[in-house]
Amino acid sequence: MTTQELLQATDAFLFDLDGTVYLDETPIGNVKETLAALRARKKRIVFLTNNSSKTEEEYRQKLTRIGILGEGDLIYTSAMAAAEYAAAHFPEKRVCLLATDAVKAEFSRTVPLVEEEPDVVILAYDVTLDFPKMKKFNEFLAAGVVYLATHPDAVCPTKGVPMPDVGSFIELFAMSSGRRPDLIIGKPEKTMGESLSHRLHIPCSRMAMAGDRLHTDIRFGNNCGMHTVLVLSGETTRETMKNYPDVPTLILPDVNALI
Ligand SMILES: [Mg+2]
Repeated sequence: MTTQELLQATDAFLFDLDGTVYLDETPIGNVKETLAALRARKKRIVFLTNNSSKTEEEYRQKLTRIGILGEGDLIYTSAMAAAEYAAAHFPEKRVCLLATDAVKAEFSRTVPLVEEEPDVVILAYDVTLDFPKMKKFNEFLAAGVVYLATHPDAVCPTKGVPMPDVGSFIELFAMSSGRRPDLIIGKPEKTMGESLSHRLHIPCSRMAMAGDRLHTDIRFGNNCGMHTVLVLSGETTRETMKNYPDVPTLILPDVNALI
């Protein structure tokens, strides 16, 4: 498929964030103009992230600060997708979320939260996690409640040593409780794609997922039946590509090659 054909076959472009549209605080090349050109062609733009430690508003501020957020764009985190999933599937249930206070506040606008006797627990990227919270969450798991996790990433990249992320917490709770999540919401699992399709009224087959990681971004897009664009502006190189079974629709040096 050529980029021209991809543009014709797609109504929404889903962009991973770090390594795809920016590196830390720096937009990648002329991504601002690229996004503007896509909007001019009536493509919906979605900024899609597994990171459930930040709220939509925090991402809104960052994307605005670096100048790439446009009118009508959607920011979609795995915590937002988890809230929509819980609202749809557990409307009458008591839901407990392990997350930062800001993410809990955002989540509770969609689903009210409880701190005791939950039916459903959701593990998000709580960067304020401490022992009392861990102990309590483990007790809920041991009681056999429904267990969801926002995403499976083992580590979160930073400038220094990568930080433990939800995938590492999952292993911790697997050791202590013997439980693994009944469902993982974020990339590469399909739930986030299904909720997005529902929200945008666009079938997954008319979406393209662009990202820099084969085992999350590209696998996600392929699992959902989307077109996929691997960009080599982040984690993946032509060399490391060979280690993965995931095959993208297109491989581009960066997102700006779409236009
Ligand atoms: Mg990335």
